[in-house]
Amino acid sequence: MSTITFNVDYVLVDCGKDGCSQSFAMSRRFYDETKRTGHTWYCPSGHPRAWRGKSTEQKLREAEAQATHLTDQLQASAHEAERLRQALLRDRHRFSNGVCPCCNRSFENVARHIRGQHPDYDISRVEGAAAMTFECSCGRSFESLRGLRTHQGHQRDNRWHEPNRAGWAAHRTVVSA
Ligand SMILES: [Zn+2]
Ligand SMILES: [Zn+2]
Ligand SMILES: [Zn+2]
Repeated sequence: MSTITFNVDYVLVDCGKDGCSQSFAMSRRFYDETKRTGHTWYCPSGHPRAWRGKSTEQKLREAEAQATHLTDQLQASAHEAERLRQALLRDRHRFSNGVCPCCNRSFENVARHIRGQHPDYDISRVEGAAAMTFECSCGRSFESLRGLRTHQGHQRDNRWHEPNRAGWAAHRTVVSA
């Protein structure tokens, strides 16, 4: 009488197709592989089968897509915040030059014009702002928004669109209260 000694892991598998009674051992390696990839396997009667649910690789791909999406959102909101700060500075700059931030026209008394024509505009955002300089969070300040933006562009270099980088975070637009 001869014996075979296995030292290999097998997993008992039912085919699972309606009407098929195949129940067989699948090597652990093949089992893990098909679970991971989602690839089709065949029962001994030739029925093509695949594991239900998402394969490990599919889950990983989805998790990565989700992470990328969140990063994109974070970057978008950092850019949005920066855009709002610069827009506010632009409004203040216009106001201090007698230009209406809403309609971009000049007035002798721009505050009176805004109160009369744009009652919804929160004039406290622009009125009484300190002398207009355009400050960067690194401590440098500029006489124009253009100067500030040029400086930031240089500092942020060609990866300026990645706000989570230290170089970006160190050169944010500063808006005083
Ligand atoms: Zn089968
Ligand atoms: Zn106006
Ligand atoms: Zn700076």
